[in-house]
Amino acid sequence: MAGRDYDVVVIGSGAAGLAAAVMAHEGGARVLVLEADDKVGGSSRLSGGHFYAAGTSVQREAGVQGDTPDAMYDYFMTLNQWKVEPGVVRKYCDYAAPTFEWLRELGVVYRPERVYVSGIDSVRRGHPPEGEGLAVVKVLDAERIRRNVDLALMTPAERLVTDENGEIAGVSAGGDEVRAPAVVIASGGFGHNREFLAKYWPDAQMGGDWTWCISGPKSMGDGLVLGEGVGATLGGHNRGLLLITPGFARDLEVSVPGWTVLVSREGRRFVNETAPYTVMAGLFRRNGGMAFAVFDEDARLAAPPASERNPSFNSEKLEEKAAAGRIVRADSLQELAVRANVNVAPFLGTIERYNADAALGRDSAYLKDAAHLRPIRRPPFYAVEIRPAIICWTGTGLRIDAEAQVIGGDERPIRGLFAAGETVGTFHGDVYIGGGGSYGPAVTFGRVAGENAAAFALASPDR
Ligand SMILES: Cc1cc2nc3c(=O)[nH]c(=O)nc-3n(C[C@H](O)[C@H](O)[C@H](O)COP(=O)(O)OP(=O)(O)OC[C@H]3O[C@@H](n4cnc5c(N)ncnc54)[C@H](O)[C@@H]3O)c2cc1C
Repeated sequence: MAGRDYDVVVIGSGAAGLAAAVMAHEGGARVLVLEADDKVGGSSRLSGGHFYAAGTSVQREAGVQGDTPDAMYDYFMTLNQWKVEPGVVRKYCDYAAPTFEWLRELGVVYRPERVYVSGIDSVRRGHPPEGEGLAVVKVLDAERIRRNVDLALMTPAERLVTDENGEIAGVSAGGDEVRAPAVVIASGGFGHNREFLAKYWPDAQMGGDWTWCISGPKSMGDGLVLGEGVGATLGGHNRGLLLITPGFARDLEVSVPGWTVLVSREGRRFVNETAPYTVMAGLFRRNGGMAFAVFDEDARLAAPPASERNPSFNSEKLEEKAAAGRIVRADSLQELAVRANVNVAPFLGTIERYNADAALGRDSAYLKDAAHLRPIRRPPFYAVEIRPAIICWTGTGLRIDAEAQVIGGDERPIRGLFAAGETVGTFHGDVYIGGGGSYGPAVTFGRVAGENAAAFALASPDR
């Protein structure tokens, strides 16, 4: 067809971009995927790939009865005190399960015995895939290849091209202009962009110089720049997901062990140490932005051995870091508090109460499971500083409507421009819904964006 090189150009080949490309092709479009990196997958290939959904076949196989999109919607809205856009949330709740079944049909394997409670509710909606996020990327990319959808690696999109009416006309990439009436931006988050972190997610500075990002290397926020270049608006200010860490090394850690006691600088507990990782950073923020994980010598000696999953809280590492002065160690609780610069009187009272609870086998304040309760009584005592400092998802991004159309400054959709995945800032609220809450929406809105971009492109006259 004259006047266009492709019907749809997809920017980014993570879970969102690949899903969009496959669905746009399914809708009859000729599709090109542009990828800045030398391989497909972005953060999606590094991810656990868990998928948050209600009403799936795997839930039923797992014996989860009666879960519905309605229930998930209620949870999502209540959790976020309605500070989210209901139309977009509703779309996800309704399309998550069909999208999940689509991934299953394409070949992603989910086992019923692994479905788990990944949110802050009590329903098992977290679906981990066999082979993690990489396996999902491989399945989606295999489908792209099967359909002969073109992919240009090492070709970052630099600019969106518009016509005289401000409608999308293509993408400038690698010195060339690719003409297309519809574009899907699926270029991921901005966790590696220090300037954007300071501007869009000030709370990410909480961990100071401990902060680092675990996302794909091209998570630079290009989608925000591309979109703003054609008048797109942004949403989701100051949102993202930080994981807590003792900062010993750049390892992925999601929580502290349940056998530690988290104490703020004020000398108080403020959380059940086994609380979901999704709420941890928010609670840290409310309590001074850091805390100490406290335990005694018996706990250190009983710590599980070092492993990929336990790089920090094993006996040897704790001894090594204490000897190096990186962990505060003292022969009395009083001295520990003084040396850690924690308020002494509340600290001593906190530990006294904790030990009394441990003796009775119940956590009267934070209701931690009794299996985790260990008295803190045999010196030396330890205090490990913990900060929310691992960036694994960023929340500011392009505003979209429920059809994945990008919203412009006049509150109208920018014609021909769609977005999905972590580059979107409309979907999430202040509290991350739970494990699978980003990968699921990436694939789901990727599909919506791909379908709608194809329909838009095929209905648009050549210009
Ligand atoms: C270690 C880790 C574990 C995680 N675990 C989970 C989990 O279990 N469940 C969950 O829900 N979420 C999880 N997340 C978050 C989730 O995986 C991501 O938010 C999601 O995969 C993002 O998908 P995406 O397609 O939007 O972006 P990405 O997968 O990052 O893909 C974006 C792609 O765009 C490319 N790109 C960037 N700029 C340009 C440009 N200018 N031109 C062309 N291409 C460009 C990038 O190279 C990349 O390939 C995890 C994240 C990490 C880092």
